[in-house]
Amino acid sequence: MKKKRALFSCKNRLRPVYLSGGGRPGPLAGRKRGRIYIDGSNELSMHYIVLDLEWNQPISWQSPVYRKIGDKLIFEMIQIGAVKLGEDLSITDSISLPIAPTHYVQIHPRIRRMTGLGAEELAGAPAFREALEQFAAWCGEDYTLLTWGCDDVSVLQQNIDFFECGDIPLAPLCDIQKLFAEVHELKDRPSLQKAMEQVNIQPDEQMAFHNARNDAWYTALVFQTLPEPEKALQHALTPKNLIHKPRKSRERTPAERFASARAALESDTALKPTCPRCGRILALDGEYIMQSPDKYISIGKCRNHGRLLLRLRLEKTEDGEVTLQRAAAPATHANIAYVHTKQYAARQRGAVLDPDAGLDHVTRSNMPFEERAF
Ligand SMILES: [Zn+2]
Repeated sequence: MKKKRALFSCKNRLRPVYLSGGGRPGPLAGRKRGRIYIDGSNELSMHYIVLDLEWNQPISWQSPVYRKIGDKLIFEMIQIGAVKLGEDLSITDSISLPIAPTHYVQIHPRIRRMTGLGAEELAGAPAFREALEQFAAWCGEDYTLLTWGCDDVSVLQQNIDFFECGDIPLAPLCDIQKLFAEVHELKDRPSLQKAMEQVNIQPDEQMAFHNARNDAWYTALVFQTLPEPEKALQHALTPKNLIHKPRKSRERTPAERFASARAALESDTALKPTCPRCGRILALDGEYIMQSPDKYISIGKCRNHGRLLLRLRLEKTEDGEVTLQRAAAPATHANIAYVHTKQYAARQRGAVLDPDAGLDHVTRSNMPFEERAF
């Protein structure tokens, strides 16, 4: 009994941090395969497979791997679980497919705690493509996927897009949670556990929540209680873009050490700056302009967030090395005009500067970055 309460006290399943409003056609729209949602031309099958997914997330939003990938892959799937239902909606088969992550290879401690899936459990598991192929083969043909809520479809689509698996055929997904909330006239969408409580389904002590197969199983049990279960087909899901909750629009990197100012200016920190909000690598809009031997500025462009003013701050250390900090903040029109003018002037001069020459003699200002450098 104690154990059951413990199960119920589990936190709600981990939701994507932020789902942007509205669906999107996505890169796979209009293709026969790769779509896991409905465009109006599909006829939905009444052979049901209930699906649930578990996924890993970056250890930190500052982690090098997330900063590199950005929002293209926020949640990397680590388990597919599903149950097949017969005509009378009884469970006829189930599957659990672990997936070895290839990007967020370190399982977030919270995810490990919740799912019981760690590096050890996932060792030797197939990668995403192979697991999805196995799942598609297990599904067969002529079926509709059902799931609890709108998160799984978005995570699944993002993984399909990221790993370029649009060629693997999958049926559309429909939402049981929405139908459940309608039937029970609930204002808020209930968690799976709450829904189970509502219809008096006791969790099995041997079947912990946050295991994809177990959650799919429980979802199927809830589905069986619905008076007109086929109405779930009216709640076709459209994947949403997954975006990590926007971070601050400005950022300053921690100081990094380099052998010289030249090395610092040629580093990825300088030449591959990332957007503070989405982590994408910015396109540099022209070269850095030296304002003083310890200060450089340029403009970077983010596909999503526009132009940013980039400022590099160099400092000579006591042992002769150079530290570099990069700051990024949304650029004003004045910033952009200023940098472009200076870049033009520098090109006219054509002089090649030695970045290490003047750095010894810089008179330090108290401000690490002056907000109004111009
Ligand atoms: Zn951005």
